[in-house]
Amino acid sequence: MKNMLFPLLLLVICFAACKKSADAPASDPQTQNDNAKKVLAYIHDLGFPSDKIVENTNEFIVEEDIIFPKNMEVPAEKVRPEQYYTGSLVASGWVTNIRLKIDPSMTSMTSEINSAIAQWNGVANCSIFWSVVSGTYDVLIVDSNLGSGVCGQGTFPSGGRAGGTIRINKAQIAGNSFAQRARTICHEMGHNVSFRHTNWSAIGESSATPVPGVGGTDASSLMNGGQCGSGATTLSTKDKQAAAALYP
Ligand SMILES: [Zn+2]
Repeated sequence: MKNMLFPLLLLVICFAACKKSADAPASDPQTQNDNAKKVLAYIHDLGFPSDKIVENTNEFIVEEDIIFPKNMEVPAEKVRPEQYYTGSLVASGWVTNIRLKIDPSMTSMTSEINSAIAQWNGVANCSIFWSVVSGTYDVLIVDSNLGSGVCGQGTFPSGGRAGGTIRINKAQIAGNSFAQRARTICHEMGHNVSFRHTNWSAIGESSATPVPGVGGTDASSLMNGGQCGSGATTLSTKDKQAAAALYP
């Protein structure tokens, strides 16, 4: 009996190992499809109207500038109602050093990127800290032809990590002032750490999750949507309060 146990144990280990690899997601189209459905339900649950959601091969684009990857991790907790956010935050261990890599296509706007970083890093009593890196990164900022009228796109956080991509339509913002170019970058960075559009109601959303203690409208918010080239160029008092409340 004693001699029987060892082969049996081996068999169990092998079975567990094989099962694990069979469960691995990624390549299975059905699993991918199921997760995409969950992501879409999450987007609807956040209150974004259907006519503001565009489906691409690997992601949903909402309100033209917010990316939800189809393989993102949907928060288990249901979220309800600027300083509005998604209910999915960057974990405390990651938010203190969000490593941003500047794609070669964006190096011509390095000064604008550094200006945007300085705004987020300068918020008092807030743990958000961005740094520019050349190696391993959390977020890649890249030039992308997003079509006429779309200045940039940020990605909401997933699984405790900042959204992985920021796309900037360089051709679209090239004619804007330095401050407005930096605003676009600063705005998209806000999406990558979970900020939504402060003016969500005015642009047709049915609900949004207010940052505790920092709700309502704010004409000076840099996170107002649909204001590329004309919106606030510095984080407003309430933007900063919201950042400090979400990431103390
Ligand atoms: Zn936006």
